[in-house]
Amino acid sequence: MSQLQIYDSHQGALKTFTPLKEGHAGLYVCGPTVYSHVHLGNVRTFLSFDMVFRYLQFLGYKVRYVRNITDAGHLIDDADEGEDKVGRRAKLEQVEPMEIAQRYTVNFHDVMRAFNTLPPSIEPTATGHIVEQISMTQQLLENGWAYEANGSIYFDVDAYSKVHPYGELSGRNLDEMRSGTRELDGQTDKRSPIDFALWKKASEAHIMRWASPWGEGFPGWHLECSAMSTKYLGTSFDIHGGGMDLKFPHHECEIAQNKGANQDGGAQVWMHANMLTLNGKRMSKSTGNTLLPDELLSGDSPHLSKAYPASVARFFIHQAHYRSVLDFSDEALQAAEKGYQRLIHAWKALSERPGEGPSKGSFDVDHWQAQCVAAMNNDFNSPILIAHLFDAVKAIQADQQDRSLLGQSGAKVLLQHLNAWIFDVLGLQDQMRHAHAGSQKALDAAMGIVLQARKQARDQKDWSTSDAIRDQLAAGGIQVKDGTDGSTYTIGE
Ligand code: AMP
Ligand code: ZN
Repeated sequence: MSQLQIYDSHQGALKTFTPLKEGHAGLYVCGPTVYSHVHLGNVRTFLSFDMVFRYLQFLGYKVRYVRNITDAGHLIDDADEGEDKVGRRAKLEQVEPMEIAQRYTVNFHDVMRAFNTLPPSIEPTATGHIVEQISMTQQLLENGWAYEANGSIYFDVDAYSKVHPYGELSGRNLDEMRSGTRELDGQTDKRSPIDFALWKKASEAHIMRWASPWGEGFPGWHLECSAMSTKYLGTSFDIHGGGMDLKFPHHECEIAQNKGANQDGGAQVWMHANMLTLNGKRMSKSTGNTLLPDELLSGDSPHLSKAYPASVARFFIHQAHYRSVLDFSDEALQAAEKGYQRLIHAWKALSERPGEGPSKGSFDVDHWQAQCVAAMNNDFNSPILIAHLFDAVKAIQADQQDRSLLGQSGAKVLLQHLNAWIFDVLGLQDQMRHAHAGSQKALDAAMGIVLQARKQARDQKDWSTSDAIRDQLAAGGIQVKDGTDGSTYTIGE
């Protein structure tokens, strides 16, 4: 059997996954900043890592999956100066910052549940780990990689880069970074514009603040992930994940903090999920080019012709490799819905298959299963896995005509494998009833016309026509009920 290979975006190559502790896997993924609703782009990244979590479990690893909640320290424009994203929202609404964090954490959990993601093993918050962040800052000061300036502590990139390759993850050199950094007013505390904040002194107006050895302040955005991954996964751990846009500066700074404080860069493998775009442009909270999960589930959006069940969106997302850009469109979702329905129909047919035919069939289930595993072992290649699932769909359809194709035991084993791939690894659910919700609107419209024609026949006492319409609908599984307020219809017995 092939071994799991993961594309390490640090080395820019596929690496055979060799966990630090046999049988165990440690996974850290940057979670959401809880100052507004997550959009489908964020959801894509979390679904990609949910699939990674699920597949590692499928392979038998005992996984500790840590995904944080950023509820402090993330400033507007991802900068080192200015307002906290959560704090600004709290000020605007005149509520406590923790009310904002609570509201959007609850919303995030609701969305994650709707998309059937598994909860992480630990979900630590930045505000719950101020002590750990202060002590990491102290460690960095002691080790000579940080300096104090006016109550704030900055990471000394120039000093660090004399010993370690700062920019190693994102492939940037120091000069490029220097020329790409804006010198902002008030940023004069920094020795160099590419230094970044570990701890910031809180101005009078800054409401989210904690006591520290350097006075009242708050942690820099990058610090929480270094502090929390170290605390829960150790100074060295298996996999760190996040969206591509976090590579620089967030993950670059994390590596520097980890190496600076722990003499160890943290993750063995860095995984970066690619972006979801809408109309060819990155989905992003700040530009407003977004589609929200609620809009997808209700169909209430100018970008959509109808509502889609969460599993269809999930199927759509896993039909692309996590490292490819994926463009969202109504047409693409309609196509994904058809594919999803075909897959679930076939799975249903297989689960209801009568025990007919020989024991062993001609379809080589073991070979097929090995191909599925090989696809996922090749850097979680879910689109290839899905292509193999459709080979199984074809076999199931052929077996309905000729039961010697799967055979009785073949059908049983294939069903077990399909259950694992569809539901355990891809995290899909049987949402066929919801999948028809869009067609319901069309059916209602068509039935309105039919029932109106029947009413006209009845008004003219043309009983044979009205009875014929009723009987023909009944033969098609649609029951008409005549009430005092007119006729209604139901589907089924
Ligand atoms: P944030 O709440 O902005 O920190 O983002 C949470 C996660 O979503 C991060 O891993 C981001 O990299 C990721 N993300 C943001 N925008 C997109 C997008 N358009 N497509 C995919 N992932 C995204
Ligand atoms: Zn992070």
